[in-house]
Amino acid sequence: LVGHRAFYDVDLMVDARVLIPRPETEHLVESALAWARAQHGPVLRIVDVGTGSGAIALVLARHLAQASVWAVDRSAGALEVARANLERYGVASRVSLVQSDLLSELTGPFDLIAANLPYVTSIELPTLAADVLVYEPQLALDGGPDGLSLIERLVFQARDRLACPGLLQLEIDPRQAKRVRELAAAALPDAETRTLCDYAGWERVVRIERRART
Ligand code: GLN
Repeated sequence: LVGHRAFYDVDLMVDARVLIPRPETEHLVESALAWARAQHGPVLRIVDVGTGSGAIALVLARHLAQASVWAVDRSAGALEVARANLERYGVASRVSLVQSDLLSELTGPFDLIAANLPYVTSIELPTLAADVLVYEPQLALDGGPDGLSLIERLVFQARDRLACPGLLQLEIDPRQAKRVRELAAAALPDAETRTLCDYAGWERVVRIERRART
């Protein structure tokens, strides 16, 4: 079953191999674009971790013509969907697709690391809406016992892969905000962490920023 989903300013092809992009993730994209446009250094190195349909990487590559973009996923099927979406918008040559467990296969450094990782707790997974359970891969949703298994590992990987200045942006479950701030403080004590709210007013995006020292 192949479908389409509008996301930011693109139309994405989606199928059972990927998470269907949600409107909440547009906040992450908007904030990433604003940050990237405010940088005045050399070419930005950007990575979308757990790219799925390619949504985040595609929009960032489209709007940041000067950036070098990587998109990683542990699912080979997801990378095929992402490639098709990147090709449709003519940016496939500017985005390197890599099969990788988070950033394990990449050394960086990156100026911008963006990720909408699986963050649903294993206990809550079976309670998601029936259509989610039927059409979306569990691999894209299951965040482990506390929902933070992947987010925690990525925050610690970012410690020596995030440039300065640099921004690590994560989509989260609002109930995880406090814990993610604690993880960020432990892994990147030199960074400044704040959260952005979604349309419903829930803390949905965490921004962990290394600011250039002046
Ligand atoms: N917001 C999604 C849901 O509740 C979960 C997305 C994710 O795990 N990254 O279905």
